[in-house]
Amino acid sequence: MANPRGFLEVHRVKSPERTPEERVHDYGEIYQTLPEEELREQAGRCMDCGVPFCNSACPLGNLIPDWNDLARVGEWKGAIAQLHATNNFPEFTGLICPAPCESACVLDIDDDPVMIKQIEYWTINHAFEQGWVIPQPPETRTGKTVAVVGSGPAGMAAAAELNQVGHHVVVYERDEAPGGLLRFGVPDAKLEKWMIDRRIEILEQEGIEFVCDVEVGRDISADELRAKHDAVVLATGSRVERDLEAPGRDLDGVHFAMEYLYQRNRWVAKSQGKPSREPEREVTAHGKRVVVIGGGDTGMDCVSNALREEAEDVILLDVYPEVPTGGRYPNTPWPIQPRRLLTTYALDEGGKRTFGRQVLGLEGEGGAVKRVLAREVTGSSSRTLQPVEGSEFALDADLVLIAIGFTHPEREGLLDDLGVALDSHGNVKAGAHATSVERVYAAGDARVGASLVVTAIAEGRRCARVVEAALRD
Ligand SMILES: Cc1cc2nc3c(=O)[nH]c(=O)nc-3n(C[C@H](O)[C@H](O)[C@H](O)COP(=O)(O)OP(=O)(O)OC[C@H]3O[C@@H](n4cnc5c(N)ncnc54)[C@H](O)[C@@H]3O)c2cc1C
Ligand code: SF4
Repeated sequence: MANPRGFLEVHRVKSPERTPEERVHDYGEIYQTLPEEELREQAGRCMDCGVPFCNSACPLGNLIPDWNDLARVGEWKGAIAQLHATNNFPEFTGLICPAPCESACVLDIDDDPVMIKQIEYWTINHAFEQGWVIPQPPETRTGKTVAVVGSGPAGMAAAAELNQVGHHVVVYERDEAPGGLLRFGVPDAKLEKWMIDRRIEILEQEGIEFVCDVEVGRDISADELRAKHDAVVLATGSRVERDLEAPGRDLDGVHFAMEYLYQRNRWVAKSQGKPSREPEREVTAHGKRVVVIGGGDTGMDCVSNALREEAEDVILLDVYPEVPTGGRYPNTPWPIQPRRLLTTYALDEGGKRTFGRQVLGLEGEGGAVKRVLAREVTGSSSRTLQPVEGSEFALDADLVLIAIGFTHPEREGLLDDLGVALDSHGNVKAGAHATSVERVYAAGDARVGASLVVTAIAEGRRCARVVEAALRD
């Protein structure tokens, strides 16, 4: 830290984005980077606190004050080395991490934290531009082989780490391309998919084998997999969606958000000439009145896609109350993580969000949904929700997307085949990543429930260390 008054002299600026008016007409990346000089000035706001709360708030334990200082002086080679020391894929987190580190930054007490995520993205972006991110295959091989099931961020991180120590890693993926929710959940507007392809290419050149279009538990049995490999890592995500328990759920035009998002991401991939699976039944928002139920990332991504499809009208119903200015409820003061990290990128582009609205049912005509029936509620958790008397209302809708979260990993197929023990939430029970089945480990959403990309990468890295220790014994 060169200037101890840096944070007093320079204030945080907004991370640059393409304007909502421009970007809503295409599927391209919305985020941009600051000019280098300005970025370095922003990095100089870091106070290198004695206790860096940012570092412990980052699930990866990113060495934030260290790389902030290297960024400040323009030592980009050093900064990327520090960043890669704890994070295999800073290009993903630098773009779409909700940045719990920034909520924990000491400057967030004044609502003016260091723009850590932008510095992270700038650093990795620059490193790619300079050609510094190149394949680094291990010098020797151990002769051991590991199967990783699932190619989301958890599987990719586990594979990268296990490969680095010399094991032969095969990643099995049931979708047509690797990336998990990064590819098929998150829209291109937040993360263009060539970035995943670029990283996969490096991982392949380092020696990792990706086998796509293969569902373990269906196309290849769990026993076969265990017989072929010395260890198996389950990184299959948490994909069972929480359903809406309301009359009218079965009407045509009522879908889980993921059915819609998978289709939109495949549509974009196909429009770019990439091979993509065709949907069994088309779900489109074009020209429709769309109601999205659920106010998290998934709901926002549905809004963003529906706007790009030129829906007639898009409204998002969030059951929880509006988050106070500054993004924190009084019961989560600094440095406690805010309970909800709300994103609004999609709402900047259009659509409307309403808070404290609970869906009671769906009405249709001729078997197709036509209205959403709802009421106003108060309370900030599912246990404290109270209806507001006489507040019932109806909304016209031709497409209803349910985005109210995920419950646990799918059991049918792989998990049932393995007979692996589950915890009280229905996730794979794997305290220190080892499951109840010998030589089988778990990481990511499959182990901890639906979470974040940064958590999934951290999970993959930790799991790899456990597998490595077991294989070395
Ligand atoms: C719409 C949406 C938007 C999101 N946006 C953000 C965001 O902006 N920022 C953020 O930090 N997080 C976000 N998340 C959360 C984040 O994407 C997940 O937490 C993360 O991807 C979990 O990683 P994972 O590797 O554990 O699982 P996943 O990414 O779910 O990957 C699991 C993989 O396993 C494969 N698989 C499953 N079963 C089998 C099998 N039997 N055989 C072979 N393959 C199998 C699946 O096809 C999938 O590719 C979002 C989630 C969603 C749904
Ligand atoms: S990965 Fe997320 S939490 Fe960690 S430093 Fe980057 S933006 Fe912050």
